Amino acid sequence: MLKETAQGLYCPAGDFHIDPWEPVERALITHAHGDHARPGSAAYLCTPHTAGLLRRRLGADITLQTIDYGVPLAVGGVNVSFHPAGHVLGSAQIRIDASEGVWVVGGDYKRAPDPTCVPFEPVRCDTFITESTFGLPLYRWDDTALVLRDITSWWDANREAGRASVIFCYTLGKAQRLLAELSSVTDRPVYAHGMMLGMMDAYREAGVSLPPVKPVIEAGGRSNRATFAGELVLAPLSARGTPWMRRLGTISDAFASGLMRVRGVRRQRAYDRGFVISDHADWPALLATIAETGASRVLATHGYAEPLARHLRAQGLDSGVIRTAWEGEPGSE
Ligand SMILES: [Zn+2]
Ligand SMILES: [Zn+2]
Repeated sequence: MLKETAQGLYCPAGDFHIDPWEPVERALITHAHGDHARPGSAAYLCTPHTAGLLRRRLGADITLQTIDYGVPLAVGGVNVSFHPAGHVLGSAQIRIDASEGVWVVGGDYKRAPDPTCVPFEPVRCDTFITESTFGLPLYRWDDTALVLRDITSWWDANREAGRASVIFCYTLGKAQRLLAELSSVTDRPVYAHGMMLGMMDAYREAGVSLPPVKPVIEAGGRSNRATFAGELVLAPLSARGTPWMRRLGTISDAFASGLMRVRGVRRQRAYDRGFVISDHADWPALLATIAETGASRVLATHGYAEPLARHLRAQGLDSGVIRTAWEGEPGSE
């Protein structure tokens, strides 16, 4: 019922695409990350919270219809509904109910708790399209509480040594989650790169409770402080190695990502620390979720699609791979 096309995943019965990477007539969008929400389509359909993020990223003038979680809507000849994916604010799985059966496109999803978005809800279906960003058995996440303890002890050590602590992370999702999680374990203020402030505001406008962040550079171009020694700064990956870093003085840096599970990756990218915290499902969560859907057919996409599909076939499921234009890093932001 869903077909791979040059523009992305297409539903002929409903005449729409899901997360197309080229402009199309009607795009159903699972969430606002750059590898799922592309500019140029004639009409968009997404959840209200994704809509706020989409307008910021793609422009206030895009043609956009919103759909609440769990509310069915007829699109073309099929009924669709959106269900929480627990990935980032507004993120959704898309359920398609057609004559050939029920399909669910999971988009990106995670099962770990996240104070900044609605938790994932398993949806029963015949065919489940699952992400496989971290679809290898070595990807297993620790409890967030343990990661937070690592972050705060690293921050403490840097403070004693007179260094700033810089955590690189994705601007949409990870930065807000880290900020919200940190506010539960410390009252100390957190600084952020200016590029992150817009999405922080978007989360607040959506009603997500986030502590205030201080911009490293105030309006007018002056640094917020004479010294950032001892402070914690969140920054986008694109800021690494730029002149902006100089005003932070001596730093220790870290990357917060599921990719940091692999020591070789951390070493190769030369971060002082890697904090393994991800907005994607780890291996056990992928398998548990697939089982919960009850799907007899599972198609894997993004990242380690082949290994996951092979594993599922060995378990007796009908499983294959859907290719995307975005092979490589998750949540390209
Ligand atoms: Zn993605
Ligand atoms: Zn994503």
